[in-house]
Amino acid sequence: MSIESQLSAVRRSLPEGVTLVAVSKTHPAEAIREAYDAGQRIFGESRPQELREKYEALPRDIEWHMIGHLQTNKVKYIAPFVALIHSVDSARLAEAIQKEAAKCGRVIDILLEIHVAREETKSGWAFDELEAWIATSPFAALPDVRVRGVMGIATNTDDEAVVRRDFEELRRCFERLKPHFGPAFDTLSMGMSHDYPLAVACGATMVRVGTLIFGERDYSAAQH
Ligand SMILES: *Cc1c(COP(=O)(O)O)cnc(C)c1O
Repeated sequence: MSIESQLSAVRRSLPEGVTLVAVSKTHPAEAIREAYDAGQRIFGESRPQELREKYEALPRDIEWHMIGHLQTNKVKYIAPFVALIHSVDSARLAEAIQKEAAKCGRVIDILLEIHVAREETKSGWAFDELEAWIATSPFAALPDVRVRGVMGIATNTDDEAVVRRDFEELRRCFERLKPHFGPAFDTLSMGMSHDYPLAVACGATMVRVGTLIFGERDYSAAQH
């Protein structure tokens, strides 16, 4: 199946109002171009340098989303153009984004990544730590960082009940944080190739789908 037909199948499966991030990490610029020619404009990447290279090689009307773990010293690679950083998992990272955003003279949109999965390896805030931090009104000192919502990854399991519980927890976190922010807090990013229909059923407004569109990733062939 071609990228174009896979993409349109995923698109057709999404209700109106749910935004598709086509996750293109490890895939070459030509694959992204194929999806672009089929009308896709939002792409997700997980490595800052790779994201930067693709940004430079591809059309300027692409909206680039950073979805992977981001080190504070790498923010500078993407700060001038990134449309949304999904993976903000610490106060230090939010502060680093503020610094780079100010340097670029732009406001950077972010999501707060919350850890709900049972796997210890996954990143993200513990919700009570995040709530405690937000109670100190940290964003008053981060004027160039705009919080758009919440991102999360469900436990990687075939047990649908577990995945549903994770998505419902993310939804609750989203609802609980909402009153702290303005009307721009409208994004709940959850769901990947294997679980996005359930994420949508649980209230996702944004899904991040890679493999279903671009095929399996070959990390050994990746450049970074
Ligand atoms: C890679 C990745 C995805 C996409 O995963 P697929 O299973 O290929 O759809 C989504 N979200 C994050 C955070 C990722 O790192």
